[in-house]
Amino acid sequence: MIETKVMQRHGDGVADRIYLPAIWDGLKVTTRHFVRNLFGKKDTVTISYPDVKVPYSPRWRGMHRLVQREDGQPRCVACFMCSTACPARCIHIVAGEHDDKGREKYPVRFEIDELRCIYCGLCEEACPCDAIRMDTGIHAKPVYHREESWVRKEQLLARQPRDYQVRDVAEGPPCAI
Ligand code: SF4
Ligand code: SF4
Repeated sequence: MIETKVMQRHGDGVADRIYLPAIWDGLKVTTRHFVRNLFGKKDTVTISYPDVKVPYSPRWRGMHRLVQREDGQPRCVACFMCSTACPARCIHIVAGEHDDKGREKYPVRFEIDELRCIYCGLCEEACPCDAIRMDTGIHAKPVYHREESWVRKEQLLARQPRDYQVRDVAEGPPCAI
């Protein structure tokens, strides 16, 4: 049910027209919160990040990583399924021919613009090779420049799972380890 709140108009005296009562009311609220937070910290919602961090929900899975094969190469076969499924259009892949004909293709470049990513997980769902996962527990950090939010293939491969048991990999070529 919608609750209606009636706001009373202030008077039109000189004091009201120069906003003194409103400024005084605002200062009272600010001072009250300042004193309470200074001595009691009752209303403080900020934390001393990065020294203090709020615990994330167990459901938070984190930023992406690329899964490695046993030889350290990405399991990704540059099929573009993830970038096609991505609603934010933030996955950019350049495919190359692999020397191993059993693998056909591999990502020469694989980059994610984490600033545009909405962490929907559709890339992970779309991947037929289980080559991209969001299980690092890493939160996107603030950056000074937009280009710093681009995560390259090497960085994605270097990331480790947070508390993840490697599940069975897709069997058979081209995705098998
Ligand atoms: S999580 Fe969603 S938005 Fe982010 S890269 Fe994957 S598909 Fe795109
Ligand atoms: S991560 Fe998966 S879906 Fe994306 S290009 Fe590589 S193999 Fe295809």
